[in-house]
Amino acid sequence: MSHTPQRLSVHVSSRAVRAIRDGAVRVYAGDVTRTRGTGNAGDIAILYGPKDRPFALGVFDPHSPVQIRVLCPTLGETIDAEFLRKRVRSARARRQKHFDGTQTNGYRLIHGPGDGLPGLVVDRYHHTAVVKCYSHAWLPWLPTLVDALTEDPTLTTGILRLSRTLQQDKDLLCGYGEGRILWGLEETLSTEFLEHGIRFEVDPKHGQKTGFFLDQRENRQRVGALSAQKDVLNVFCYTGGFSLYAAQGGAHSVVSIDASQQAMDALERNLQLNPSLRTTHFDNQCADAFDAMARLRSAGRTFDIVIVDPPSFAKKMRELDNARGAYQRLAFEATSLTASGGIVVFASCSSKVSDAFLQDALQHGARRAHAKVDVFESTGHPIDHPIPSDDDQYLKCLYARVHR
Ligand code: SAH
Repeated sequence: MSHTPQRLSVHVSSRAVRAIRDGAVRVYAGDVTRTRGTGNAGDIAILYGPKDRPFALGVFDPHSPVQIRVLCPTLGETIDAEFLRKRVRSARARRQKHFDGTQTNGYRLIHGPGDGLPGLVVDRYHHTAVVKCYSHAWLPWLPTLVDALTEDPTLTTGILRLSRTLQQDKDLLCGYGEGRILWGLEETLSTEFLEHGIRFEVDPKHGQKTGFFLDQRENRQRVGALSAQKDVLNVFCYTGGFSLYAAQGGAHSVVSIDASQQAMDALERNLQLNPSLRTTHFDNQCADAFDAMARLRSAGRTFDIVIVDPPSFAKKMRELDNARGAYQRLAFEATSLTASGGIVVFASCSSKVSDAFLQDALQHGARRAHAKVDVFESTGHPIDHPIPSDDDQYLKCLYARVHR
């Protein structure tokens, strides 16, 4: 069954026209000057500029401040089932070049704007697709999307996850709900996948985000390559991604810290799944990261590598000032806990935090810790999280050598 969308004429400001020409995919309600007709979530929006000329196409979401997600910045295409199928096919083809499924079978299949489908994410864990919607606009399109995704017969099960905002009003979900099985059976949901040969448990139904932080795969691999014989501290470890890579790379010891007991329990199970990594000494602590780091510092502990990968402290621009304090504090604790000559790996997953902001916070924290930091590498998005413009870059990770 596929959705027959209505078409809706939406007039937008000249500012929005310019932004779309520059690659923006979001049109906020404040930039919508006039809408002809009422319009439902998922309708195809034909965008008109101030000169009353149509110029772009998107999908409409009357329930969100982001009223339009732009799918085509020019005219000439028709948004229908075939259009969606083509976008899904090209997203799939892009991944198939990089992941043959033998060493890594968990990766992002569709990354919103980078794959021409803003507001939509699909993560793949072995035979399972986790379809995550960030906009009501995609809900009426789900049957069409399922048709496109199931063209790959190895993807045997699909589950729906909804952003927190979408979960707030159940009446606007077109009958869908968080955790709904879209195809296949709940019993056939994958509970395990491989990343660079390491086995990880995943809970597609209840895990944070879609179950795992696939975006850090390449950073985890870099950390693994740096870890031989090292003592490693992994703060905000979730289910132990960086920790297991450090062990695979030959770390002597790994201390892992996260506030979530579920995540720490999953970390223990991930260690059971990978018996060959158990020559590394593991110390797993369920604790608040700030408190735990301060305690380790008071105890005089130091490490060769300290990884800090916190949740997003600044989802909105106005939260940036508070976030600065949190990043500075983490930078202080991390550099204090790093032995001279060691490495701090300092990440941010907030699109509002720039590389320069993160570097400033790191330098600030290091000064307080009477240390010098020399950033020798700065990484962004991995291959399966493509971005059309710098504004869409949320992930940053700094690698810095610490000297005293
Ligand atoms: N590095 C992880 C992903 C980290 S996501 C990986 O590679 O998979 C951020 C983590 O921070 C989450 O697991 C969350 O439970 C944890 N967290 C959030 N606030 C915290 C706090 N105050 N102290 C410790 N952990 C916290």
